[in-house]
Amino acid sequence: MDVVSIECPNCGAKIERKPGEYFVTCKYCGGEVCFDEIKEEAQIGRLKSKLDVLEKKDKDEEAVRKSLQSWVKKRNITLGIMSFLQCFGFFLVGCSGEDPADDGLVGLGSMCILAAIGMLIAAPIVLGALYPDYNILSGQKDSTARIKMWLKLFGISLCICLVSVILAFVILSILGFVD
Ligand SMILES: [Zn+2]
Repeated sequence: MDVVSIECPNCGAKIERKPGEYFVTCKYCGGEVCFDEIKEEAQIGRLKSKLDVLEKKDKDEEAVRKSLQSWVKKRNITLGIMSFLQCFGFFLVGCSGEDPADDGLVGLGSMCILAAIGMLIAAPIVLGALYPDYNILSGQKDSTARIKMWLKLFGISLCICLVSVILAFVILSILGFVD
C-alpha cells in the first residue's frame, strides 16, 4: 500500500497516511485524525448527495405530473366545447326549414360550426405548445413529445368533429328532420 495523502478535517492541511496507520497527529494543528472516520464521513457525504439528487428528481417529476394533469383537464374541456359546438351547429342548420324565420337558426348554427372548425385548427397548436416535453418514464426531456402530441391531437380533433356531425345527423333523424 502506498502513502496516501488526505486533508486534515480540522485545519485542511495535507496529512500523509503511511501503510498500516490508523491514527495520525496533524503536524499543523496537533489534532488527532482517525482514518476510518474520514472514510465514513466521505461515504455519508456521497450518500447524502445521492439522496439529494433523488429528491430533486422526485420534485421535478411531481411538478411535471401536476402540469400534465392540468394539461389533460384543459385538453378535455377544449375538446368537449369543440364537439358540442360542432354537434349543436349541425343540429341547428339541419332542423331549420325553408321558412325565412329559420334564417336566424341557420346563422347561429353556421357560427357554431365555424367556431368548431377554428378550434379544430387552433386547439392542436395551442395544446401542443402547452404540452410538457418531459418523459416521466425516461426522466428526460423528449423533444419529439410535443410533435407527437400535436399530430395525435389533430387526429383526435378531426375524429371528434366527424363523430359530432354524425351525432347531430342521428338526433335529426330521430326527431324526423331528415327523410
Ligand atoms: Zn490539522
